[in-house]
Amino acid sequence: MKNFEYIIGQEAVREHLQHSLALNKISQAYMLSGEDGMGKKQMAEAFAKALLCEEREDGGDESCGNCHSCKQVESHNHPDLIYVTHNKPQLISVDEIREQVVGDVQIRPYQSKYKVYIIDEAELMNEQAQNALLKTIEEPPEYAVILLLTTNEQMMLQTVRSRCIKLSMVPLSDDQIMKALTQREHIPPVRAQKILPFARGNLGRAKELALSEEFEEKRTMYIRILSQLPGSSVYQWTDDIEKLAEDKKELASGFDLMEDWYRDVLLYKAGALREQLIYQDAFSKVAQGAGTYSFRQLQKNFEALSVAREQLKRQVRPQLILENLFTELRRTKE
Ligand SMILES: [Zn+2]
Repeated sequence: MKNFEYIIGQEAVREHLQHSLALNKISQAYMLSGEDGMGKKQMAEAFAKALLCEEREDGGDESCGNCHSCKQVESHNHPDLIYVTHNKPQLISVDEIREQVVGDVQIRPYQSKYKVYIIDEAELMNEQAQNALLKTIEEPPEYAVILLLTTNEQMMLQTVRSRCIKLSMVPLSDDQIMKALTQREHIPPVRAQKILPFARGNLGRAKELALSEEFEEKRTMYIRILSQLPGSSVYQWTDDIEKLAEDKKELASGFDLMEDWYRDVLLYKAGALREQLIYQDAFSKVAQGAGTYSFRQLQKNFEALSVAREQLKRQVRPQLILENLFTELRRTKE
């Protein structure tokens, strides 16, 4: 369901968009920023659906959900709602922007008052592509509405940013996540409670974790590895590295689990209480880590993890990433 009503939390963004609908003051370019899983696309689609709805009266701030147009948006089949696509996974090229936005926007809407463009992962546009887009958002036809979704606003040119209404998605509260998981996804409260600390206010991540059968198993494996790493020999980890490297897609969330672990170790070392930790159920192992690692080395562990994340994005071989990472994590002092 792509209605505003269905969105949990994000009141500030929602109110801004619904308010502009109610006042009929629609800007022509919006930039929605926030992590993956925060619901940027859902928000953009709710807005697009309301803009395009045939039954929405003047001053109405929500789509009807029943008209032909609403049904077309639901099924990703609306001729006036354009999702900009790209061929290379890490790049939206200037040609793609020219073809799908700059050129296309000159054609009037087929059936609606508006023509809405959703550019997801807008940070993947290189400078040329952004400059091409800039011309359109500087002087768009009155029916055009361009929605840029991004995980990294800093990668957008200042000239582009300054032309957009900027809206930021924020982490949800634990209560909101619990409610969404138990009432909407029908996940048992005990299970939902367990993944809650790992979701860090991100509903997308929460759902992914809660629905993943392997999460429990994976978490147990990481606790074993992370508690045994300090001071161990490099050869000890060959099998585990091989196993972890097999599933490249899972590796990023593995890095999340590792980061949470070292965050706990650091917090405990700095005097935090058990209740403040994410890995409360592995408390004694966290405490052991706090006794073993120096503050400086913990800092280096975080740095090593962020290097590993970068390497994963740059398509470095997973085996190599993990070997380098484990080499750093085995050290207890610099
Ligand atoms: Zn409708």
